[in-house]
Amino acid sequence: MASQNEPNIIADKSVIEGLDYWRTLPIKQQPQWPNAAAVQNASERLASYPPLVFAGEVDTLRDRLALAAQGKAFLLQGGDCAETFAGATADKIRNRIKTVLQMAVVLTYAAEMPVIKMGRMAGQFAKPRSSDTETRGDITLPAYRGDIVNGYDFTPESREANPERLVQGYNTAVSTLNLIRAFTTGGFADLREVHSWNKGFAKNPANAQYEALANEIDRAIKFMAACGADFDALKTTEFFVSHEALLMDYERPMTRIDSRTGTPYNTSAHFVWIGERTRELDGAHVDFLSRVRNPIGVKLGPTTDIDTVKALIEKLDPNREPGRLTFITRMGAGKIREALPPLLEAVKASDANPLWITDPMHGNGITTPNGYKTRRFDDVMDEVRGFFEAHRQVGTFPGGVHVELTGDDVTECLGGSEQIDEKDLESRYESLCDPRLNHMQSLELAFLVAEELKKA
Ligand code: PEP
Ligand code: MN
Repeated sequence: MASQNEPNIIADKSVIEGLDYWRTLPIKQQPQWPNAAAVQNASERLASYPPLVFAGEVDTLRDRLALAAQGKAFLLQGGDCAETFAGATADKIRNRIKTVLQMAVVLTYAAEMPVIKMGRMAGQFAKPRSSDTETRGDITLPAYRGDIVNGYDFTPESREANPERLVQGYNTAVSTLNLIRAFTTGGFADLREVHSWNKGFAKNPANAQYEALANEIDRAIKFMAACGADFDALKTTEFFVSHEALLMDYERPMTRIDSRTGTPYNTSAHFVWIGERTRELDGAHVDFLSRVRNPIGVKLGPTTDIDTVKALIEKLDPNREPGRLTFITRMGAGKIREALPPLLEAVKASDANPLWITDPMHGNGITTPNGYKTRRFDDVMDEVRGFFEAHRQVGTFPGGVHVELTGDDVTECLGGSEQIDEKDLESRYESLCDPRLNHMQSLELAFLVAEELKKA
């Protein structure tokens, strides 16, 4: 990647060897590939393809997250639970970006601080599962592990792990990211388009509230224009991509040595996180991600203890680098008010300064009598409130939200102003994994977060 004038720093041998140390450690949630040679071949091809993101962008994000950890910015991270290859269409990607941009405007206006926009996009293809297999009637097959591993259809052929999907995952991420870059730098994300991102019905309360806010922004922009202000900065917006770094046969070949610094960057995304199920201190995922320069997230569930949090900090952020480490708490609405404050206290009393964000989705899953995996919008909102309360109580900064959302009008989560009920889940439930907030519910959530942020 080095140009003629740039240094081309070669990594130490120990750095390169370290990138494969995870292979000696216990590892969870990897597929049983049927053919080792085919995986090797796919890995080698991935390793030869261009990076999706560049080291400089990753460094910029780390700086932005450092501001959020100091209480000077707020992180909005959202997207599908599981992206699918078929779902990487222009319409769906545009709708998701619109929704995130709308939410960001609501938050920026309320908090009067920069909002860092980040998609669970362009690589969120691999899923951890609670069981290796799925049984329907008297047939048992491998569980669906995300489009980058196997197919969702319940047939032996589809459920077999297929290494060609690694390459297809890369290609789908490339085209998704290309469209994201076009939308966010090509004029679509211009703040003067604030009205055109809206696609809801005027009678919906969150929508009406959004229109009123967009009018205020319009007026402010016209006022500034009349004063001769220069709006170049409004034309484009920074948008980062992230996913759970779960599937090592994808993450490892996408990790490259940066020629400016001789250090490894995972070039498959700006930000990657370790899930609740793969964050063992001595496991493969924590070791591997401790060695890359990207900002890293770690999910923390309700049973997380202080020693674990401290050990994760030691392992993943030994140099206490600003912006390096984000804790994504996902405790459940009923537990967060008890489980989170002690962790915040302990970290506050230490020399670490991670960014704390809330994932109000994963601690609030339920299954309805008609068999749908869902979440109540009220529980999601309640966990968000609990998150802000915990931070107010301890005197730390509630630095962001991490949500599963889509820009489409799906019916996957119960409640919200459209009052989606159990029967409605049958009409438009499209997620292959966890239920997402739809466009309107996402906007409502943004208004709630905005209210809480004003108090933070
Ligand atoms: C997810 O983010 O989709 C996920 C599986 O989360 P967690 O690791 O928190 O369960
Ligand atoms: Mn999920």
